[in-house]
Amino acid sequence: MCSDETDPGKALNIMSVDVEDWFHILDVRPAPRVDQWDALESRVERNLHFLLDAFDEHGVQVTCFFLGWVAERFPHLVRTAADRGHEIASHGHLHQLIYGTTRQAFAQDIRHAKAVLEDIAQRPVLGYRAPGFSIVRATSWAFEELVEGGYRYDSSIFPAARGHGGLAGARTDPHRLWTASGPLLELPISVTRFLGQRVCFFGGGYLRLFPYPLIERMARAVNEDRRPVIYYIHPREIDPHQPRLPMARSRRFKSYVNLATTAGKLKAIMRSQRLTTFERWLEVNGASLPEGLDG
Ligand SMILES: [Zn+2]
Repeated sequence: MCSDETDPGKALNIMSVDVEDWFHILDVRPAPRVDQWDALESRVERNLHFLLDAFDEHGVQVTCFFLGWVAERFPHLVRTAADRGHEIASHGHLHQLIYGTTRQAFAQDIRHAKAVLEDIAQRPVLGYRAPGFSIVRATSWAFEELVEGGYRYDSSIFPAARGHGGLAGARTDPHRLWTASGPLLELPISVTRFLGQRVCFFGGGYLRLFPYPLIERMARAVNEDRRPVIYYIHPREIDPHQPRLPMARSRRFKSYVNLATTAGKLKAIMRSQRLTTFERWLEVNGASLPEGLDG
C-alpha cells in the first residue's frame, strides 16, 4: 500500500490505462480493419486482469479509458474495474484517428462509447482520450463536440511532435479550455525538456525503453514545474507473448520494445509515487485550473 495518497508533501500524479486489445495499433498498414476484429484472438481480458491485480496490490486507483468496442464485447471488464474502485472513462468507440474522420462521425463515436460505458458501469463517464492522441489543430472542433457530448475533461493533447497527432507547442499544464459550447478541462499528456526537446517519458515506447531511475528523475522535473505526471499504459504493453503485426523495423521496435520489463517498471512507479484517477485529481485541483485558449 504505497500510493500514499494522503502524504501532502508529495505531488499527486495520475495513472491511466487505455483499455484496448493487441491489434488496436494505429497507423500501420497491416492493422486489421474493424470488420476483422471479431475473428481475432483477444488478449485484453487476461492483460487487464493482470494490471488490475497489480493496482490492487499497491493500493492504487486509476482511470480506465475503455474503448467502447471492447466494453461491448467484455462488459464484465468494465464492471470489474468499477467495482475495484477505478474510474471508467472513454477512449471512443472504434479507435479511429480523429484527423482521419469527420466531425459528424466523431460526434457519433464519442456519444456511442459514453452511452455504452454508462449503461454498463451505471455511473457518469466524464473523461475522454483520443486514439493515438490524434486531435490536431485542424480538428480542434473535437473539443466543442466533447462538451456537446457531455464530457467534462479531456486528456488527448500530446504537446510535442509525434508520429501521428501531436500538438507541438501547445500548453503543457492542466487548464480550462473554452469552446463555443462551454468549458472543458484539459489535462495534456506530460512532457519535459530533454536534450532541447519536449519528450514524454511516461507512456508508450519511452516508458518501456528507458530505465526507471531516468523516468523517476523526469517525473520529478514535471512535478517541480507544478504539473502532475500523467502516466498511460495499454494492457498489451505488459504482454510479451502477444501476436506481432508485420511493420517496418523502427516502428516494430517502438511498438514492442521491453514488453517483458514494463510490468516491473510500473510496479516501481506505484511503489514510489502518489497516484490517483483523473476524477479524484480534479476534485482536488479542478477549481483552481488556469484559463487557457490553447488547443
Ligand atoms: Zn488507443
